Amino acid sequence: MLDAVLLGVLVAAIAIGFGLGYRQASRRITPSPAPPSRSLSRDYFVGLNYLLDEKPDKAINTFIHALEVNSDTVDTHITLGKLFRTRGEADKAVNIHQNLLARPSLSAWQNEQVQLELAQDFMALGLHDRAQRLLQQTDADSQHQTHRMAARRLLIDLFEREKDWQSALDIIQPLLEQQADIQVAAAHWQCELAADDMTQASRSLAKRRLKKALQLDPQCVRANLMLAELAMDNGRYANAIARLGRIAEQDQAHIPTMLPALQRAYRYAGDDAGFTRHLLELLPDAPYTSVIVRLGEMTHRHDGVERAIEQTGERLEASPSLGGLDYLLDLYMESQRQSQRQTPDSRLFLLKRHTRALLENRPRYRCQRCGFSGDMLIWQCPSCRQWGSVKPIIGVDGE
Ligand SMILES: [Zn+2]
Repeated sequence: MLDAVLLGVLVAAIAIGFGLGYRQASRRITPSPAPPSRSLSRDYFVGLNYLLDEKPDKAINTFIHALEVNSDTVDTHITLGKLFRTRGEADKAVNIHQNLLARPSLSAWQNEQVQLELAQDFMALGLHDRAQRLLQQTDADSQHQTHRMAARRLLIDLFEREKDWQSALDIIQPLLEQQADIQVAAAHWQCELAADDMTQASRSLAKRRLKKALQLDPQCVRANLMLAELAMDNGRYANAIARLGRIAEQDQAHIPTMLPALQRAYRYAGDDAGFTRHLLELLPDAPYTSVIVRLGEMTHRHDGVERAIEQTGERLEASPSLGGLDYLLDLYMESQRQSQRQTPDSRLFLLKRHTRALLENRPRYRCQRCGFSGDMLIWQCPSCRQWGSVKPIIGVDGE
């Protein structure tokens, strides 16, 4: 498909070039000894021959050779380079862009445009040092704000790929006010740095970073989750519970994400009743499987299995889910064990096997932006690289 696009662009560009060359040549009063149209047309037909022989790579190379670099065709060369890069042939893109940079006829604007492209080629090839040098040079020297901003965005992308969060934070200032997604990303970089601090036992530094993350993005669920963990480590369970409570206000979809920590905080505090109350408060707005199952577990522990079956059954009636059904089967089996003092009905085992098998093949998290799904919560989507877009899947086969 990309081959077809690439060839389409080339053929159109050569045809236009051929037409222009012909027109210019025919306008000249004294005919030049070797009009440009002649060599252009020869390459054009050689390329066409390759195409007819189904040799697209040779055809593309011939067309590129035919396409003279001048101020009219710079954009076409840049487009070609981009196409090669997206095809995974960044080395060819480098050739095209370096060839362009060698031309003295480029304007300052075009020169910077090509430098930005070349930096992206280097990034695609994993040559981060060379990309970084080019981008820092454009950022420092360019007279055009558009190019300086573009260079910074690419530098940020590069630092992210290298997990150099501090360098990314050091250069975001001019972008912060204009681009909301940078604020979200920057909050996550602070969280990444805080996680490093926590492993090096610098808790107070981690706490400061997490508060900065919340200043950058007040909706940063991850910062509150990590602050709650820090509070719990210090034995401040009420504080941890309050932090986790804020996550429900920030983003209801992340209630299942914070529930294990919430359960731990209440358990350490020895407050089962408090946990049940908290879950019952969450339930009307967030009738998720993990809320229903945890409520069932609390009822099971304190009021017995029959009461747990009754309540869980009612809640699942309103919000059915595969995970809920799986838990309800556990309760039925437990009830049979208790009442008959024997192994439960084999049909329950069969059903349980089915729900388990169905659940095992279901992803638990999905990116809200690109649809990437997986079994683990990842803060930066590995597919579209957006921060904070992966969330628990809500619905019959999820939460
Ligand atoms: Zn994504």
